[in-house]
Amino acid sequence: MMRKYFTYALLFGFPLLGAQTKADGQSAYQQKWTLLEKENAAQAFDADIQLSDAESVLDKKLFQLRKQFLAETEKQKIPIYNSSFNQIKPLIESTALLKIIQKMPKGGLLHTHSGGLASMKWVISTARKYKECYVFDQKDTKDFIYGQLAFFENGKVPQGFVSLDKKLTAQPDFEKELLGLLTLKRDNLSNYNDYWIEFEKRFTRINLLLPYRPFFKEYYKEGFRELLKDNIQHVEIRYVFDELYDFQHGKYPLTKTVTDLQDIVKEIRTSDPQFSLKLIYSSFKFLDPESIEKQLETAFALKKEFPDMISGFDLVADEAAGHSINSFQKNWNKLNELAGKYGVNMPLFLHAGETTSVFNKNILDVSLLDNKRIGHGLNLIYFPESMKLVKKQDKLVEVSPISNQILGYVSDMRNHPARVLLSHGIQCSINSDDPSVYGYEGLSYDFWTAFVYWELDVKALKKLVFNSINYSSLNNKEKETAIAHLNTQWNDFVQKANSQLK
Ligand SMILES: [Zn+2]
Repeated sequence: MMRKYFTYALLFGFPLLGAQTKADGQSAYQQKWTLLEKENAAQAFDADIQLSDAESVLDKKLFQLRKQFLAETEKQKIPIYNSSFNQIKPLIESTALLKIIQKMPKGGLLHTHSGGLASMKWVISTARKYKECYVFDQKDTKDFIYGQLAFFENGKVPQGFVSLDKKLTAQPDFEKELLGLLTLKRDNLSNYNDYWIEFEKRFTRINLLLPYRPFFKEYYKEGFRELLKDNIQHVEIRYVFDELYDFQHGKYPLTKTVTDLQDIVKEIRTSDPQFSLKLIYSSFKFLDPESIEKQLETAFALKKEFPDMISGFDLVADEAAGHSINSFQKNWNKLNELAGKYGVNMPLFLHAGETTSVFNKNILDVSLLDNKRIGHGLNLIYFPESMKLVKKQDKLVEVSPISNQILGYVSDMRNHPARVLLSHGIQCSINSDDPSVYGYEGLSYDFWTAFVYWELDVKALKKLVFNSINYSSLNNKEKETAIAHLNTQWNDFVQKANSQLK
C-alpha cells in the first residue's frame, strides 16, 4: 500500500501531503472549483445586480424565512412538491413569506389577458346587480353553454337564460357552482382534465359580459384596483378587441374601448398617479392568414390613432390546436409595408413555446421577427441556438409559473424551464397570465412560487421586478418616471421588511 502511494506521489506530486496547498489555504482543486462556480454565476440573468447593505440583510432574512417554512413542511410531512397550486394555496396564504412578498413592489404585469383580470367572485357579485344580467342554466347547445353569462333587454331573452340575481337568490348554492364554472383549477397533479377545452369554456362564459359598456367600465376599474392592491404599478393587457355596446346606443366603434380605458386610467391616477396601461392587440392562432391580415390592418389603424396605448400585436390560444407562427409568414412579411402605410411600427409580442413538445417550433420564429417579448417560451430550452439568439437580441421571456402548472405544462415547480433560462442569462419577468380564471389576484402567488421553488434570492427578485419595467412598452420618458417610482418603492420596501423581520 505504501509503495503504491509513493509510486503515485513520484509521478503526480504529493497532493495528499498538502504540497499544493496555497498560502490562502485553498488547494488548487478548490480554487478551480471556486472559479467555476463564479463563472457559472456570472452567466446568470441577475449577474449585474449589486445588493446594498440593506438588501443583503433582507436577503439573509428571506433565506431564513424560506428555510423555516421548508423545515416546517418537512416536519409535518406536507408534500409541497407533489401538490398543485390549488392544494397548497391555503398553506401559501398562511406564510409570513407571502405577506412580505405582497408588500414588495412588483413593477409591471407584462403578460395578462382581457377577460382574465378582475376576480370571478367580484364578477358574480357585480353582474347580479344588473337586472338585465342572465345566466344560461340549460345543457350546452350549439349557441350557449351552461353557466354562460350575458346581458339582454327585457323581452329579448333567449330561451334557456334566467335572471342571474333571481337564480342566485332562489338557489344560494349556485354561487359556488358558478364560481367553479368560471375558474379553472388543477385539483391535484395526477387528475386527468382536458385543460384547454375547460380553459376556453371559462372565457366563453364571460365573453358576452365584458363588451357591455357599463359592466366593462366597472370590470377594468376593479381589475386595476386589484393590481394596485398587490403593488403593481403598470400593466400590459393582451387585448382581444370586441365592439362595446349598450341598449341605448347599440354598438360603439373599437376606438371607444381605448378612450374608455384611458378615462378609467385617468380616474385611477387621481389616487395612484404612477399607474399606467398599454394594450397589445391580440388575435387568434386558429384564424387563417387572410383573417389575420384584416386583424393587422385594424391593429395598425388603432395604433395610428393611439400610439401611446397600443404597443404591439400577438396571436393567442392553444398552440397545439392552432396554426404555427411560421404559417403566418405572409402576414409577417407585410409588417414593413403596413408600417409605411400607417406611419407606426407594430412590434410583436407573440405567445410562443407554451408547450413541452419539441415538435412545436414556434420558438424559432421569435428570433427572426421583431418580437420584443416571448409569452411563456417553455420549450425554448430545447432549442440551444434560439436560446443564444434570444439572449443576444435581449428579448424577454414572460414567465407565468402558476398558469403553466394549471394548464398542465409543469407539475413539480422545481423543474420549471425558466430556471434554465435564468441561469443561462435570458431575461425573464414574472406574470400571472389569467389570475381571475385561476382563482387568485395579483402577482404575489407567482413570486412566492418562484422564490420558494426556484430558490431565488433578493438579487433575482430585484432583477425580475425591474425587468418588468425595463422591458415594458412604456416609452423612454414614461420608463424613466416609472423606474424612479419603482426605485423609491423598492427601497422603502427593503427598509420596512427589514425592520419587520427579526
Ligand atoms: Zn397568455
